[in-house]
Amino acid sequence: MESNSPIFIVMLGVPGAGKGTQAQRLEEKLGLKQVSTGDIFRDNLRNQTPLGQLAKSYMDKGELVPDDVTIRMVEERLSRPDCAKGAIMDGFPRTLAQADAFDKMLRGKGQKVALVPLIGVTDDEVMDRLTGRRVCRRCQGVFHLMFNPPPPAGECPQGDKSLCDIYQRDDDKPETVRNRLFVYYKQTAPLIGYYFAHGLLAEINGAQAIDKVTSDLWDVLDKAMA
Ligand code: ADP
Ligand code: ADP
Repeated sequence: MESNSPIFIVMLGVPGAGKGTQAQRLEEKLGLKQVSTGDIFRDNLRNQTPLGQLAKSYMDKGELVPDDVTIRMVEERLSRPDCAKGAIMDGFPRTLAQADAFDKMLRGKGQKVALVPLIGVTDDEVMDRLTGRRVCRRCQGVFHLMFNPPPPAGECPQGDKSLCDIYQRDDDKPETVRNRLFVYYKQTAPLIGYYFAHGLLAEINGAQAIDKVTSDLWDVLDKAMA
């Protein structure tokens, strides 16, 4: 896949579909930065910034952080040099207002979204995935107790010098997961129609082994960028 203009890919799918897992793999393959709004909010939370404190009240309930705050944060993130070649958007946009703002943001620079892979999985699968999800505070690696076990103590699969610091996210408890799914269907699912109408949607079967999802994703990207 080759292109001189920046490439923006939007990963779409319910919480737990595998957006982050696949975005991390694409990051390496494509040489594009993964921009995860969830990771940015969690970093802010850890560093106790005002943005982190504001985001916490929404994240704890599985609600979305307000659009204006989120859009400003993404605009700032994308203006950094490591996004000059584009980005793999993981968790943004999540509302129609965000999608519209994102289009305007890119249009202002003569850019546009290149492809929107929609990773499809069922709600039952998502419950198992999210309650077994474990993440690393240091390398942001995403693991699963059964499907993709975290590294043994003292190792980091990303080759990071510091060791992995594995934890379970507060919002991966079953009560919060149920609300996050509800919020997804209400606020994020309309983006499926939005991107379909723009001819950008590519459906991927997410209920397959992680490697198979990656190779399907790669095929779709290759075709789209050919
Ligand atoms: P997941 O992929 O499991 O849904 P994320 O890490 O993407 O989780 O997001 C965690 C939380 O961060 C969301 O439930 C929400 O509160 C907040 N968040 C992340 N991205 C956005 C966004 N684009 N707009 C509003 N809130 C967001
Ligand atoms: P999202 O970013 O869409 O919320 P993640 O990439 O964080 O989803 O994946 C959610 C959980 O499911 C993680 O624990 C991850 O290891 C696991 N997972 C991701 N893809 C698959 C897959 N194809 N099969 C089984 N488990 C998966």
